[in-house]
Amino acid sequence: MDNILHFFRDPLFGVAILIAIIAFIALATYFWNIHAKKRQQDSIEHFMKLFDNMSIDEVAQETLLKLGESLPALQFLAETYSRMGNYERSMKLYVAILECDLDYASRLKNLQSLGEVYFCAGFLERAKKILLEVLKNQPRNPQALCLLMRTYESLELYDEACDALGCLEELGLEAKKIQLNRAYFFLKKSFMQIDEQSLLQLLQHNAALLSYALDKLKIHNLSLFWKIFKQCNQGEEILDILWNIKKDELLKNMYECPLIEDICAAKGYIKLSRNCTVFELEALSCLQKAGIFGDLEFIYCCKECKESYPLRFERCLGCGELLSVELTFIVRKAKNETCQPLL
Ligand SMILES: [Zn+2]
Repeated sequence: MDNILHFFRDPLFGVAILIAIIAFIALATYFWNIHAKKRQQDSIEHFMKLFDNMSIDEVAQETLLKLGESLPALQFLAETYSRMGNYERSMKLYVAILECDLDYASRLKNLQSLGEVYFCAGFLERAKKILLEVLKNQPRNPQALCLLMRTYESLELYDEACDALGCLEELGLEAKKIQLNRAYFFLKKSFMQIDEQSLLQLLQHNAALLSYALDKLKIHNLSLFWKIFKQCNQGEEILDILWNIKKDELLKNMYECPLIEDICAAKGYIKLSRNCTVFELEALSCLQKAGIFGDLEFIYCCKECKESYPLRFERCLGCGELLSVELTFIVRKAKNETCQPLL
């Protein structure tokens, strides 16, 4: 008995027990990680079976044979097709890539890329499912969250878009962008119900929303459009919105609005005794006096990525930035000589 007690009191016994506990914890953690990764891998593979009806086309099969499942080459090809706008081929290539023997991180990365292509191609439900699967495995993935928010926005699920925005806020997205996106979702959701006072308050705190609100009001509530326009002191940055307003509306609202007066002069509705403040409008006004009919051509450039578009956009298709339009305009020959808007 004394021998046994002596053995337990031996400091070497304590050290051996400690080493055994550490070894046990290390082994348990190792096997648990293997099990968790296997479970995640199985979950993603099971998820991909939902998209089994998407066949790999001959080009993808041929590419796979030629490149021998060379992942970087296939990825490059899929990205190139996506950039060229050939989304169908890009999707099929990503499905082909996902059928290769990939590690966990690479499988998730390609799954996210497939979700992105689905989003660009307009398959919003599929994009949503894929992005939710990616986020189930990588909840702190800002790119997937951002794309999910835009997917919800396109699906007009503004509450869900706000939830995704909340997650981006926790990940440290700029407070100014969070505020603007939140106000934008609110306005998109309740534009037809919002009262005048609340709308004015919202626009006061989010000046970037003015062009969006005025564009909508021009169609739905012209009297409120003029009220807000006269209060907000907007100028050339919304010239495209003002340019196609009917003649009688422009003439009725030009008093104490130098920009509207300039537009009326540029369109030949009135003769001004002063020069127009905007060079292009003055040029058009002078052309009118000479009997030459001109018009304006608008170009919409994104302040963030500098991509340009022929139409006004709310969210840039290139970089996803919200209300980042920078308007430029050039004088061109009028297509119809009366220079009247074709409404
Ligand atoms: Zn952009």
